Amino acid sequence: MRELTRRARQVEIDILSVTDCFITHEHTDHICGIKTFAKNTASTIWTSKKLNSGCGIEETGDLTPNEPVVLGDVKVTPIATFHDAVDPLGFVIETESKKALVLTDTGKRPKDLERYMDNLDLVVLEANHNKRMLETGPYPYPLKRRITSNYGHLSNEESGEILADIVKRAKKVPTCFLAHLSEENNKPQIALLDVANTLKANEVLPGRDVQLEVASQYVPSKVLSI
Ligand SMILES: [Zn+2]
Ligand SMILES: [Zn+2]
Repeated sequence: MRELTRRARQVEIDILSVTDCFITHEHTDHICGIKTFAKNTASTIWTSKKLNSGCGIEETGDLTPNEPVVLGDVKVTPIATFHDAVDPLGFVIETESKKALVLTDTGKRPKDLERYMDNLDLVVLEANHNKRMLETGPYPYPLKRRITSNYGHLSNEESGEILADIVKRAKKVPTCFLAHLSEENNKPQIALLDVANTLKANEVLPGRDVQLEVASQYVPSKVLSI
């Protein structure tokens, strides 16, 4: 919570003003401090129904994949992802004029992604690892297998394939933040290069057709407004 407050302050967000918080899944890198956050703010914590029943947080809202939640003029639709967690989710966030996708922690392309791919303005997309770095890196074999499985994480190339399809179906030039980069098995410049190469192989030109950026796990990204 202290870290979250500090980072929010860096981008001029008052953590107490957050009204709704959406949880993708229960792995520690995603929910560390959530109970303290729930206790100290008036925010509604939205999680999947199955996860909700076990997480012990009050003031929660239940999410069901493909059933949108409408908050004022913002619509948030959860999509089921493939990950070794209880009911893991990605999110499509829409206003009247903008559409964003947040998709991390999935071993492969979500089954229902197809129906949300049109006209995205903003994409936060997992580019977890460079395949060769993972293969030759220090992780124990079972962990390597977990990461590359259908219930693990997207490699840079897999991320590039998904992004290429998204870009081809966008009306305007979308912005994509590559996210959830592995500390051991990736580097920002390598993720950018791998994704750019995959895009080019699919006839999508970074810079012309899509604005590519990398999200850091240490420094807060700029605030994205839609
Ligand atoms: Zn996870
Ligand atoms: Zn994660």
